[in-house]
Amino acid sequence: MQPAAVELVGDDALVGPEVVIDNREARPGAIFVAIPGERVDGHDFAPRAVEAGAACVIGTHLTEADAPHILAADSVDALSWLARGVVAEARARGMLSVGVTGSSGKTSTKDLMAQIFEAAGPTVAPVGSQNNEIGVPLTACRVGASTAYLISEMGARGIGHIAWLTSLVGLDIGMCLNVGRAHVGEFGGMETTARAKSEIVADLAPDGWAVLNFDDPLVSAMADATRARIAWFGEGNLTGGDLRVTARDVRLNALSQASFTLVASDGDGERTAEVALGVIGRQQVSNALAAAAAALAAGLDLDLIAAALSAATPRSQWRMELAPRADGVLILNDAYNANPDSMAVALATAVELAAGTRREHPEARVVAVLGDMLELGPTAAELHQELGRLAADLGINEVVAVGEFADQIVAGATSENIAARASTRDQVASSLTLSPGDVVLIKGSRGVGLETVAATLVARD
Ligand code: ATP
Ligand code: MG
Repeated sequence: MQPAAVELVGDDALVGPEVVIDNREARPGAIFVAIPGERVDGHDFAPRAVEAGAACVIGTHLTEADAPHILAADSVDALSWLARGVVAEARARGMLSVGVTGSSGKTSTKDLMAQIFEAAGPTVAPVGSQNNEIGVPLTACRVGASTAYLISEMGARGIGHIAWLTSLVGLDIGMCLNVGRAHVGEFGGMETTARAKSEIVADLAPDGWAVLNFDDPLVSAMADATRARIAWFGEGNLTGGDLRVTARDVRLNALSQASFTLVASDGDGERTAEVALGVIGRQQVSNALAAAAAALAAGLDLDLIAAALSAATPRSQWRMELAPRADGVLILNDAYNANPDSMAVALATAVELAAGTRREHPEARVVAVLGDMLELGPTAAELHQELGRLAADLGINEVVAVGEFADQIVAGATSENIAARASTRDQVASSLTLSPGDVVLIKGSRGVGLETVAATLVARD
């Protein structure tokens, strides 16, 4: 299906009209795609979308909406065809399409990349974490006549998912950050996870770029799965490839913001630029290197990249959001999601933050409010015990576990120096006694909804 409604709208008609799936976002001239969801059916909202100005409805059947309908066997498929049309046209006039996958850090890296590419030209990137068969085409449909760069975040829950997403947006640059244990229950094992993620580089053309993590063996092996040029990023001793991007002299300040020398090398030699990140956590060094590698592969200037990285701010909620309270307590809200790898990173960041606050408050403690890590399959209980053990090993002072696996986390956190207990989401905040300098990490899978705990703690100043 071509974007048949092109004539229906005005200014951006060269590429296509606005495409929405939520009637509250429908503006005059929009195409409303009615998608049947688990809880609500978009078809029921078509009349409201048209009242708000939508000019056309795409769905599986007619609705009461007073507008032309285009009927399709499957609404998500229809949305994907719109995206294919929009992107194919934009790529034909030179737009560059960049995709990122990985077990952890996709959104963080996408946000850094977006801020680099925006400094070079009009850029379309997902809002938040829109990385599935609806979010990717919906983002792609926002491409306009002047868009120079399209950035797509791509999540996978099985073999073939990413291949399908890349078939929509036809990547010039495909990036894999890491292969970890996120969704390992659904994949059935790390090797399968790696195979699914390698699809991000499989269809790249020889003049495209695969941006790959040199330090992660499951990712570096993906170099064999592509015909494209290789841009390595990482902190190890990078060798080979067409481009290598690394960091030298990494320092963390008291707020866990990293500074480093960004080093890029290729056939023309080595170039460097200084970066001082404003985003929080040691893991952002790897994300920044990945983003820089993609931007260099796209031909952007190293100094522009370093400046944009240094100016970049967090864009997506509840990921490593640091809220310093007036009473000197630091709340680290990482409640967006959790898996064993991102838990480890977040715990380490909390410990580093406390090392900073202890300069002023030597008694400062680290409290970790930890929710379930969902979708881990049969090893879930064991992995939650391991999380408790890790918290104890890292020197966390107090663990409050929330959710179905709370008892496993508590059971793992056995050490003389750690106080571990289970609680409920609604009771955590009131059960904590905090003093100036204390660092409170709040993290769990999306389903646990720990951001409410963060909100209560931030408000209780
Ligand atoms: P999702 O699959 O939910 O979309 P994502 O891959 O987009 O997740 P982010 O939302 O960027 O990941 O980050 C989630 C959490 O993972 C962060 O809050 C942080 O704790 C951790 N994280 C970020 N970058 C990395 C990284 N490079 N390695 C490990 N953990 C990371
Ligand atoms: Mg994401």
